[in-house]
Amino acid sequence: MAACKETRGLAVLGSTGSIGTQALEVVDAHPDRLRVVALTAQRNVDLLESQARRYRPPLVCMADAAAAGELSRRLEGTGIEVAAGPDGLLEAAAYPLADTVLNAIVGSAGLPPTLAALGAGKRLALANKESMVAGGELVLSALRTGGELIPVDSEHGAIFHCLRGEDVNDVEAVILTASGGPFYGRSREELAEVTVEDALAHPTWSMGRKISVDSATLMNKGLEVIEAHFLFAVPYERIKVLAHPQSVVHSLVEFKDGSLAAQLSVPDMRLPIALALSYPERWGPPFLRTDLAKLGGLSFAAVDVETFGCLELAYRAGKEGGTATAVLNAANEVAVEAFLQRRIAFLEIEGIIRKALDAYRPSPVRCLDDVLAAEEWARAKAARLVDSGRVC
Ligand code: NAD
Ligand code: MG
Repeated sequence: MAACKETRGLAVLGSTGSIGTQALEVVDAHPDRLRVVALTAQRNVDLLESQARRYRPPLVCMADAAAAGELSRRLEGTGIEVAAGPDGLLEAAAYPLADTVLNAIVGSAGLPPTLAALGAGKRLALANKESMVAGGELVLSALRTGGELIPVDSEHGAIFHCLRGEDVNDVEAVILTASGGPFYGRSREELAEVTVEDALAHPTWSMGRKISVDSATLMNKGLEVIEAHFLFAVPYERIKVLAHPQSVVHSLVEFKDGSLAAQLSVPDMRLPIALALSYPERWGPPFLRTDLAKLGGLSFAAVDVETFGCLELAYRAGKEGGTATAVLNAANEVAVEAFLQRRIAFLEIEGIIRKALDAYRPSPVRCLDDVLAAEEWARAKAARLVDSGRVC
C-alpha cells in the first residue's frame, strides 16, 4: 500500500516577486504536498488578488496599508482575511496553519517576519538574505529556542545539501560561486559609464531589480558571504568566492582531506526553492534536467576584487561584526534604490557604502532595536550622500 503523503501548509511572504511567483510554480507542481495558507506582498494588488482567488489561502496581507484597503474591497465575500502593514506580515509569518514559511521579501524589511516565523517554531525557507546580513545574530538566537531554517539562496542551498550527513568539523572552507554578473571582465573605467538597463540585464538569472543590481556590483556575493558565515558557522577567512560564469556549480564545500563537494544544475531557482520546501525529501520530476555533455565546458577564475569593491566591503563589515553588517546592508539598499532612480552613477553605490562604513562605529547586537537603530543611522547617512552628489 502506498504511504499517505503529508500536505504541508505554506505561507509565502513576498508572493508577487521573482522568488514568490516561482515558489507558486513549485506548489502547482506538487498540489498534493503543498497547500498555500497565506500570501503577502508590498503593493501589487492585481497580482495578489489573482493569486488569492487561485490558491484560496485563508489569510493574505499587503504591507502597504492603502493597497490592503483596496484588496480588502476586491476580496469581499470570499472569506479571505486581508491583513495590513508590518503587523499583518508578522501575523502571516507566525500563522498557525503554516508549517513552512517562505520568506521571499526583498530587503531588511524581511527581518521581523524571519524572527516571527522562527519564534512561532516554523520551518523557515529563507530567500531573504538581508535578514541574515542585518540580524544574523538575532536569527541564530531565535533558532536556538525553536524553528528550523533551510536556505533558498542557490549557493547556500548547495552548501546545505553538500553538508548533509557530514561532520561540520571536517569542513575546511566553503566556496561560493559567482556568475560575475553582467559586467564580468569590465574595467573600472567601463563601469563608470554603465546604465540601469545594463545593470538589470543579468546573463544567467532572471531576478528582482534590487538583487540584479546587487549581482552587478558583486554586493550580492558579499551579502552571501555574510549569510554563509551565520548559516554555517564558518569564519570569514574560510569563506571563498570563485567566479563561475555558467552558474551551473552552485557552490562547493572543501573538506579537510582536500576533497570538494559541489551541487550542480542548470540555473533555475525553482530547484533550490523546491529543495527547501521538500526537505528532507526530494520531489520529482525535475523542472529542468541538466545535460552536462550539452553544456560543454565549465570555467572558474579568481574574482576581480579591485574592480568590484563591494565584495571587500562586505568582508570588512562581517569581520567588524555587531551592527556593521546592518549598516552595510541598509546603506546598500538606499544606494541601489538611488541608482535605480538614476540619481547616482553605478560606482557611487560602492562609494556610498564605503563612506557609511568609514563613518560608523559598530556596537554589539543584543536585540532588534539595536539593528533598527543602526539601519536608521545608515539610511540617513546614505541619503545625505546621495543628496550631496559628491560621492566619488
Ligand atoms: P522581488 O523584488 O522580485 O520581490 C520582492 C517581494 O517582496 C514582492 O512580493 C514585494 O511585494 C515584496 N516586498 C517588497 N518590499 C516589501 C516590504 N517592505 N515589505 C513587505 N513586502 C515587501 O525580489 P526577488 O528577486 O524575488 O528577491 C526576494 C529575496 O530573495 C531577496 O532577498 C533576494 O536577495 C533573494 N533571492 C532572490 C533570488 C532570485 O532569483 N530572484 C535568488 C536568491 C535570493
Ligand atoms: Mg545567490
